[in-house]
Amino acid sequence: MKKREELQRILAPLGVNVVLASEIGVTLTEVEETGETFEENALLKAVSGCRDAGIPCVADDSGLCVDALGGRPGVYSARYCGEDTPYPEKMAHLIAELDGVPEDKRTARFVSVAACAFPNGTSFTVRGTCEGHIGYEQRGDNGFGFDPVFMVGDRSFAELSAAEKDAISHRGNSLRKLSEKLKEIINN
Ligand code: IMP
Repeated sequence: MKKREELQRILAPLGVNVVLASEIGVTLTEVEETGETFEENALLKAVSGCRDAGIPCVADDSGLCVDALGGRPGVYSARYCGEDTPYPEKMAHLIAELDGVPEDKRTARFVSVAACAFPNGTSFTVRGTCEGHIGYEQRGDNGFGFDPVFMVGDRSFAELSAAEKDAISHRGNSLRKLSEKLKEIINN
């Protein structure tokens, strides 16, 4: 629901109306995220959704890539320590994995890839990132997921307001790129 509102806010100026599949009576086929890249997973979901709905479909895939862990958890972020493990536990585990790693080696980025698939079989993806580092403790009450350990400067994502996060976040960046790309397609 929050994703729909964010997408609608960004795409409204293009005259694009965003609907959830459930709002137009479409039951989406369950898609297994079997890809090894954010692009593959986002495309799997968008192409499948477009086939189900018969109209252009946008899907996204995102995650947290930590340099000291060779890019982990990456596309497996939601499944890190097990899908049902509460985030405070997942974050405690992540901080423990980085035990002894100094400040300058704690770099990380959030990645968001948005894919758009069209009924004529064409599709495209766009990628947005946000650079930061992993903190030493969980900080802040806003946001979701790994926000409390993802530091941008001296504040965690969970210490930012929604508008502050939107302005710099991976998802904000990928959705703004999506909007630009759709604008080109609509105007050509
Ligand atoms: P997805 O729903 O398959 O894209 O999985 C994304 C996962 O990456 C989420 O479950 C979170 O663990 C993590 N993630 C992605 N974006 C964010 C964010 O903005 N804040 C915190 N965690 C995020």
